[in-house]
Amino acid sequence: MVEDRLRITEIFHSLQGEARSVGWPTVFVRLTGCPLRCVWCDTEYSFHGGEWRETSSIVEEVKKYKTRHVCVTGGEPLAQRRCLDLLSRLCDEGFDVSLETSGALDVSAVDARVSRVVDVKAPGSGESARNLWSNLDVLGAHDQIKFVLADRADYDWALDVLDRRDLTSRCDVLFSPVAGKLAPRDLADWIIADGRQVRMQVQLHKLLWGNEPGR
Ligand code: SF4
Repeated sequence: MVEDRLRITEIFHSLQGEARSVGWPTVFVRLTGCPLRCVWCDTEYSFHGGEWRETSSIVEEVKKYKTRHVCVTGGEPLAQRRCLDLLSRLCDEGFDVSLETSGALDVSAVDARVSRVVDVKAPGSGESARNLWSNLDVLGAHDQIKFVLADRADYDWALDVLDRRDLTSRCDVLFSPVAGKLAPRDLADWIIADGRQVRMQVQLHKLLWGNEPGR
């Protein structure tokens, strides 16, 4: 049934490289397509192509890996309407499910059992006009907000957003440097100097394997 299909770039088993479940063996389901074009995007290969798969076959493939953690990512997974059903079905199977999303599309209908990792696009991404600010109002302690920062101007912008919207009282806030553009140590020094209650992260999978697809 065409209605029950999603376009998938890849399904793979690796270690979670970011966010709260960093380090856990995780199955990643990468959906094809994204309406954004962040200048530093590292998954451009997911913009096009992919393979149509029935939701049930995706769930069955995930189950084969026998992991507890599943991450639905992209691209922008929510750009495919059936993603919401996939997320719920993965939760029904007992997985610990996270969703990585650009922050440009509405996350309010995502199953409450899913941990939503919502980007806030800083100006250095070239896509900050796409931020759907109302998303931040529906997030709770189970969710996470992620800023990927290209330079000091992005960092200062992010602090202003944190203060104006009181984000650190809402859920965990993650700050990541854009690989190859902002030195992780600089970002770490700024966070410590400012005494900010944000969680610095570097992408574990890139330290281990570089930027290979399927890792
Ligand atoms: S939202 Fe994500 S997948 Fe889409 S262009 Fe930006 S970084 Fe790439």
